[in-house]
Amino acid sequence: MKVQEIQKKQEASKYNKILELKNVTMDFGGLRAVDDVSITVNKGELRGLIGPNGAGKSTIFKLIMGLYTPSSGRIYFNNKDITKLSTWERARTGMSIKMQIPGVFGELSGYENMRIAAQNINSMSEIDNEILRLSKLVGIDDLLDSEVNNLSHGQQQWLEIAMTLASKPELLLLDEPVAGMGPEETAFTAQIVKRLNEEGISIIFIDHDMEFVKQISQQITVLHQGKLFAEGNIAEIENNKDVIDIYLGTEV
Ligand code: ADP
Ligand code: MG
Repeated sequence: MKVQEIQKKQEASKYNKILELKNVTMDFGGLRAVDDVSITVNKGELRGLIGPNGAGKSTIFKLIMGLYTPSSGRIYFNNKDITKLSTWERARTGMSIKMQIPGVFGELSGYENMRIAAQNINSMSEIDNEILRLSKLVGIDDLLDSEVNNLSHGQQQWLEIAMTLASKPELLLLDEPVAGMGPEETAFTAQIVKRLNEEGISIIFIDHDMEFVKQISQQITVLHQGKLFAEGNIAEIENNKDVIDIYLGTEV
């Protein structure tokens, strides 16, 4: 290939990236939770992030969202260095997270929860239109009138996913969205995640085992003890003996 062509290709791939972690390390006192991790996620991707408990998955999400500042390394969003930006500045640039710990208000209705999430929208009529649109997109429009405490665990998770969409994220981070769900709820969640990705939202989701990941993701990143352990498509990861080994004897 000619030099010019190579440069052109490099330039094009630069604009393909939505997120890049470069040699990111996070120390908590003496504990290295994330160890020199570099990950690139392209626009439109549906990426699975897996690894045994304590691998550093949730910490990586918190670093991406700015809840922690890395001990070293850089984080880029749409090729912009966001390493030092605050959480709200990052949210405004187009990323949203559903954390592992539920973040819904139990005494309020589904609609009222959505209203809180949609605070950034100014016009009243637009708020209601948007709440309805997002609720339909996720498939929870019939739950808006219910008090959240009366919803099932799965329904609460879906409501929260709908809430994360109110800021119109380009990149959505989902931390263990199917934890504690039965098979039917898991399948419904897989449909939601796929649909959102088809709408053009880039998604990274965490799970600690492979089953949910297999249903939806294209590329998988495996973390182990804070380090990037493997990366590839489902077949590559499933047949990777080292990956199988880290799951044996580990409580997942
Ligand atoms: P995962 O989500 O893969 O299960 P985490 O990212 O939650 O793992 O945790 C990675 C490691 O970092 C664990 O050993 C955990 O105990 C530790 N850790 C996470 N958050 C903190 C914190 N705020 N302070 C101290 N240690 C932490
Ligand atoms: Mg976690």
